[in-house]
Amino acid sequence: MEKRKLTIIGSGPASYTAAIYAARAGLNPLVYEGFYSGPAGGQLMTTTEVENFPGFPQGITGPELIDLFRKQAERFGTTFIAEDVIAVETLRSPFLVKSSSLEVLSESVIIATGATAKRLYVKGTHDTEFWQKGVTACAVCDGAMPIFRDQDLFVIGGGDTAVEEALFLTRFGKKVYIVHRRDELRASKIMASRALNHPKITLLWNSELECVEGDRVVRSVTLKNSLTGALTTYPAAGVFFAIGHEPNTKFLGGQIELESNGYIKVIKGSSRTSREGIFAAGDVQDHVYRQAITAAGSGCMAALDAERWLAEQEHVLL
Ligand SMILES: Cc1cc2nc3c(=O)[nH]c(=O)nc-3n(C[C@H](O)[C@H](O)[C@H](O)COP(=O)(O)OP(=O)(O)OC[C@H]3O[C@@H](n4cnc5c(N)ncnc54)[C@H](O)[C@@H]3O)c2cc1C
Repeated sequence: MEKRKLTIIGSGPASYTAAIYAARAGLNPLVYEGFYSGPAGGQLMTTTEVENFPGFPQGITGPELIDLFRKQAERFGTTFIAEDVIAVETLRSPFLVKSSSLEVLSESVIIATGATAKRLYVKGTHDTEFWQKGVTACAVCDGAMPIFRDQDLFVIGGGDTAVEEALFLTRFGKKVYIVHRRDELRASKIMASRALNHPKITLLWNSELECVEGDRVVRSVTLKNSLTGALTTYPAAGVFFAIGHEPNTKFLGGQIELESNGYIKVIKGSSRTSREGIFAAGDVQDHVYRQAITAAGSGCMAALDAERWLAEQEHVLL
């Protein structure tokens, strides 16, 4: 059976940054990049321009940025495997990490499996249709793009995130519509009143997204009134899903403590989880910032925490 000092589960800014630090520290990390769980390389593989990652003044595409991260990790001796981890036995030491073709005994583990932005699959929102051509799931990431400037933008959702995204988009859009299934927002009172009183925001109650249409990019959305069934088509340049994220933690089988919203609980100011020797980085433990740069920063923290934890263990297990 293969033995490792450090295994990193997941791929993306957090995982590859952790791998860069760990490999440079001589920990010889193994990275499970995933296969069915999401695109290897993470969420940035599904986006075009990334304009807010420092160091790239002209911007860079998501896949190009991920390729650079990965090459840098590879340069220092990281090993990659394109498989999903299906289980981790955390009650034994070293931990047993399992995928479909490999079992690894690992002294420490970093979980960097990210989160999946939820979206509605209706006509026009699929990957081969207008996803990333006006349909997205991240206003902070994409809102400033030229295609959205001075246009009508639609945020789908009714919680605090939907209101936050709508308020952010008022800086760029001509008008911002919040499309909500119910007749009142789930958002906190203060957030709801900010949306209701904003001159650029219109609430569309009892409304559901029926379809998105366009040519090269989004040109219109059709909404269905959930009470009457009536369909209305609006001109639109952007559709922003704000219906939540699902942290990718199922393979842990409840062995690591989670927050009530499903994100991995870490000890404040660190990447340490409820299980000693297991660390978490990136969006899987961050429901607040959810950006590539914060994921990368926490990947660095996890590698340093793992390195120090391993150094503290007096006995060498392998
Ligand atoms: C459309 C879109 C546009 C975005 N644009 C920007 C932007 O412009 N700027 C910015 O800063 N941020 C942007 N973001 C947010 C950014 O992509 C995320 O914050 C960042 O990717 C989180 O990185 P992460 O390392 O936590 O992992 P993720 O990117 O979430 O990736 C984790 C990956 O781990 C793998 N995985 C999951 N489960 C397993 C398993 N069991 N075993 C093995 N592997 C597994 C999967 O391949 C998964 O894709 C965008 C997000 C989206 C959805």
